[in-house]
Amino acid sequence: MVVIRGATTIAADTKEEIQRAVGELLEQIVSRNSLIKGEVMSIVFSSTSDIHSYYPAKAAREAGFSSCSLFSAQEPDIEGGLKLCIRAMLFVEKDIRPSHVYLGGARVLRKDIAEKYNIAIDGPAGSGKSTVAKRLAKDLNILYLDTGAMYRACALKALQSGVDLESEEQICDLMRTLSLDIEYEGGVQKTILDGKDVSDAIRSPEVSMAASSVSKYASVRMKMVEKQREIAGRMSCVLDGRDIGTFVLPEADFKFFLTASPEVRAKRRFDELVAKGLNVDFEECKRELTRRDVQDSTRAIAPLKRADDAVEVDTSSLGIEEVIDLVKRKMQEKI
Ligand code: C5P
Repeated sequence: MVVIRGATTIAADTKEEIQRAVGELLEQIVSRNSLIKGEVMSIVFSSTSDIHSYYPAKAAREAGFSSCSLFSAQEPDIEGGLKLCIRAMLFVEKDIRPSHVYLGGARVLRKDIAEKYNIAIDGPAGSGKSTVAKRLAKDLNILYLDTGAMYRACALKALQSGVDLESEEQICDLMRTLSLDIEYEGGVQKTILDGKDVSDAIRSPEVSMAASSVSKYASVRMKMVEKQREIAGRMSCVLDGRDIGTFVLPEADFKFFLTASPEVRAKRRFDELVAKGLNVDFEECKRELTRRDVQDSTRAIAPLKRADDAVEVDTSSLGIEEVIDLVKRKMQEKI
């Protein structure tokens, strides 16, 4: 069973307006969740204390919800709360990911699902950014953009071409011939370099270090940042990286900066590489992480840094669910 939530506002406290608003809200919930009315077991309504003219439950019955149980309640009069607002909670006998629906003035209650918005998640390697970003994107049904993968693709191209990673001129020349595409397959990002899917090839420790080297150049960064801004401008997404909240999207709606102790981060990276079947040494992993941290946070352009308005989360002793809960709570507080 799932619970689907929705809310709407009415223009005036009249029977007709309540019937219209409830009908519209339920119709939207049903269509956005591909439901049939018979799958709705019960609906609980609450309305703000300035609504007296009609029961939302009665309006639902009239809108064709004839077989489910219905209930209406009135909310307390909260100062500063939304006016003339009707909220609904639908209990549905179906195994789906719910799409909650917020209409009219109630859209402000869930800015995250009602409008296009961006979430920036920055932090050092191994802080849990990509795990959190992926889960958030899935839960919120929005795009996940792994910006690190883009710098990794540049690095792979540089390694394959045999250019000197410390020569800005050579890297800059190489960038002119770079063909990089980001595609999605079943919601999973695919990094396409010169027409080839390099999503796995870019995950080696060698590429990690090289990515950190080439990402310090303006010619590389500006090309990647332009692509990132273009994608984030088109749709709601979670972007993870080093400079999303400070440089790529300083106006991002939500900003988080994840951290964790060097030990924990090295362990996570080590486990990740081992799981991929790579033969790696823990101490070497730790050294590589430290070298990358230093390089990423001391470069001149868009270094790894917490944005002043980002919420910092130390994930050292938190599980994924705890981090996700915390992040969602902080988003809700901001809305
Ligand atoms: O996040 P990931 O470990 O895949 O990033 C690889 C490298 O790409 C980082 O060490 C960093 O140098 C660079 N990067 C960056 N800016 C981003 C994302 C990644 O400079 N937004």
